[in-house]
Amino acid sequence: MRARFGPAGNSPMFYEAGHSSSLEVPAFLAKLGLSAYEYQCGRGVRVKEEFCRKMKQAATENDVTLSLHAPYYINLASSDPAIMESSLEHIRKSLAAASAMGAARVVVHPGSVKRDSRQEAVARVESLLERMAQTLLEDYPGIEICLETMGKINQVGNLEEIIRFCQIHARYVPTIDFGHLYARNGGTISTRDDFREILNTVGEGLGAETLSNLHIHFSPIEYSQGGEVRHRTFQEDYGPPFEPLAQVMWDMKMTPVVICESSGTQTEDAMAMQAMWNNIQEGREA
Ligand SMILES: [Zn+2]
Repeated sequence: MRARFGPAGNSPMFYEAGHSSSLEVPAFLAKLGLSAYEYQCGRGVRVKEEFCRKMKQAATENDVTLSLHAPYYINLASSDPAIMESSLEHIRKSLAAASAMGAARVVVHPGSVKRDSRQEAVARVESLLERMAQTLLEDYPGIEICLETMGKINQVGNLEEIIRFCQIHARYVPTIDFGHLYARNGGTISTRDDFREILNTVGEGLGAETLSNLHIHFSPIEYSQGGEVRHRTFQEDYGPPFEPLAQVMWDMKMTPVVICESSGTQTEDAMAMQAMWNNIQEGREA
C-alpha cells in the first residue's frame, strides 16, 4: 500500500492536452505521476456497460485507483418517502457502475437539514443506512460507501456525525474532506496538531485500518458564516494548507487516497500534493 493522489473529474488541463474521452484519463494521470481518479456522477449515473468495462481496463493498466462520486441530489436525511426511495435507487445505480468499472469506493453526501431538527435528520440518515446495510451492501460486495464530511453548516455530515454513521457497518467509511471541515469550523484547521486531532478522532472512532487507508478530499476553500462558499485553488490565498497534513500522515504511516477538488486546477493541485509527499519521503529516507 502507498499513498495515492489524483483529481476529481476531468480538469481543463486534460482537455487542453487534446483529450476528450474519460477513458483516456488513467493514462494521462499515470504520465503525470498520479495514481487515483474520482469519476464524477454528481449529476446522475449515466454510464454504459461497455464504458465501465473499458474504464476498468484503462485504470488497471495504468495502476490508477478508481472511486466514483454518487449524485449530489441524494438526500438520506429527507423525511419525504419518495426522496428516500430515489436516494437509495441512485446509490444502487452508483454501486452498480462502481462494480462494473472496478471502483472500490462510492462517495456519498449524507443529506441536508430542512425544516425539522438536526437530530431528526441525523436519525433518518442512520435508519436508511441500516436499511442499506441489509440490502444494497449485500448486493454489491467489496465496495465501500464513503460518507463525506460536508462544508455547509445546514448539511448533515460534521466529523462526529460521519463517524457515527460509519460505525453502523464496516463497509461505511468516511471521506474526510478537509476543505469542508475547515469551512465548517471557520478556518481553524492549520497546524499539524489541528490535523492530528482530526485524524486521531477518526482512528479512535473507526480503527487503525480505516484511518490508514483513509479516503480524503482536499482543496482550498472559501467560506462564510454558513460554511462552504466555493472551492478555490493552491494559486489563491485560501486554506487549509496541505503541507502540515502531509507531514502528520507520513508520521502516522498512513496510505490514504487523496482526491483534489480544486476548482479547475484539480490535476495541477493533485500533482503539487504528490510532490510535497515525495519531498517528505525523500527527506525522511535520506
Ligand atoms: Zn463530495
